[in-house]
Amino acid sequence: MTYQADLKLFIDGAWRSGEGRDVHTVVNPVTGSGIADVPYATAADLDEALAASERAWPEWRAMDVEKRGSILRKAAKLLRERAEAIGAILTQEQGKPIAEAKAEVLGSAQLFDWYAEDAKRDYGRTLVRPAGQLSRVIRQPVGPVATFTPWNFPIYLLAKKVAAALAAGCTVISRPPHETPGCTTELFRALADAGIPAGVAQLVHGEADLVSRTLIASRTIRKVSFTGSTAVGKHLMKLCADSMTRVTMELGGHAPVLIFDDCDLEKTLDMVVPQKFRNAGQVCVSPTRFYVQESIYEPFLEGFAARTAKVTVGDGLAAETRMGPLANARRPDAVGALVDDARAKGARVLAGGERGDQGFFFQPTLLADVTNEAKIMNEEPFGPVAVTRAFSTFDEVIAEANRLPFGLAAFAFTENGRRANLLGDALESGMVGINTFAISVADAPFGGVKDSGFGSEGGKEGLESYQVVKAIHQA
Ligand code: NAD
Repeated sequence: MTYQADLKLFIDGAWRSGEGRDVHTVVNPVTGSGIADVPYATAADLDEALAASERAWPEWRAMDVEKRGSILRKAAKLLRERAEAIGAILTQEQGKPIAEAKAEVLGSAQLFDWYAEDAKRDYGRTLVRPAGQLSRVIRQPVGPVATFTPWNFPIYLLAKKVAAALAAGCTVISRPPHETPGCTTELFRALADAGIPAGVAQLVHGEADLVSRTLIASRTIRKVSFTGSTAVGKHLMKLCADSMTRVTMELGGHAPVLIFDDCDLEKTLDMVVPQKFRNAGQVCVSPTRFYVQESIYEPFLEGFAARTAKVTVGDGLAAETRMGPLANARRPDAVGALVDDARAKGARVLAGGERGDQGFFFQPTLLADVTNEAKIMNEEPFGPVAVTRAFSTFDEVIAEANRLPFGLAAFAFTENGRRANLLGDALESGMVGINTFAISVADAPFGGVKDSGFGSEGGKEGLESYQVVKAIHQA
């Protein structure tokens, strides 16, 4: 299958191509070779996008919420109709299996539908006052928004921000990751074809530092929403401090998975192994640190290793592939260094542990008896590596799960209802999944605590993150 992406900037309602602009090479992670060039925004492009965003905002915020919603729902419909083609572009840019890529496009369409409806139910509240007086609290759109998103779920994470911001009545300028420009361009093509007015939703491929500094320093952008590493998140927050720009930070995680000896072991293994290797482990809520109760530790490892050996690794375009390559050249090096460090510190390698022969592949890997001295017990691997260790008591495993500065997601497997209640309270994370991994859904908030960031995406809270609150008192 050939790569068929039309790589352009979308500024003030018009598509702009490469003439006079620097370009960046898009690489297929299966081969490590270039497949296309994406044009990068110039300083003038960014200034024009900012001006257009400011111009378009009053009309967009004043538009009837039903009319705004109808544009978002049309974009959702177009994404669904184009899911096959967009999924193929995504797989060739990022590596994930085609079925996962298509599901990502469909999930993104659902976000547009959900926010188109949710925005209609933004009622505000009226306070109790003596007769003849009125005090009310309303929420209004914060203003033009800038989004910065990563390559692991390039369409879904972008849609989470763009759908909520547009539904709230904000205009948006988005800088997508340089690894995946084609599929993210298709999201804006769906919005353009759905009739989004000029300047309301704009796409600027470009050099990350230039784009973020320029947009944040302008007085136009009132809100920044970032998904990516904790280090870049902290850097962007510092830039935002100068302009008092609001932020939502969805940053890294290091999800603990607590496996208690009363779980249904076979069922649990059938869930955790595919989940670990989904998107080659490049998921901020990927199950990473498996703490397994002593009495079932060895059977758990045996079952995990047997299932890992059956994971078919290859080109995501092939129907039988269950795990593709990592997304860029940095990832196999980073993952390999963490595995080597753990091995040197006494971990047993029960499956994988090596790079692939070509492109950016890394084998599905299982490490056992990993101590806290190993870097991988402390740094997010963001790759296909399961890290395991035995535990004995509830209190010990909770302390261990909460030990790291991250707090995005935590998971537990137990058939004991009282224990499940206690876990929900005790785990320090933005999301807790008990006997499930289904924690990223349109109608629930998604976000972290501690170094995993703050602010929510998804659910009512996702819409509110693009609003300011106003109290109006009338006597
Ligand atoms: P990164 O933080 O360097 O980049 C994340 C995204 O932010 C990318 O799209 C990147 O282009 C962009 N970015 C980088 N510098 C920027 C800047 N100055 N201004 C604006 N945008 C900027 O991460 P990476 O090297 O691509 O991935 C490495 C680590 O990032 C992973 O190990 C993982 O910890 C984390 N990560 C987290 C998520 C998530 O969903 N939370 C997603 C991707 C990566």
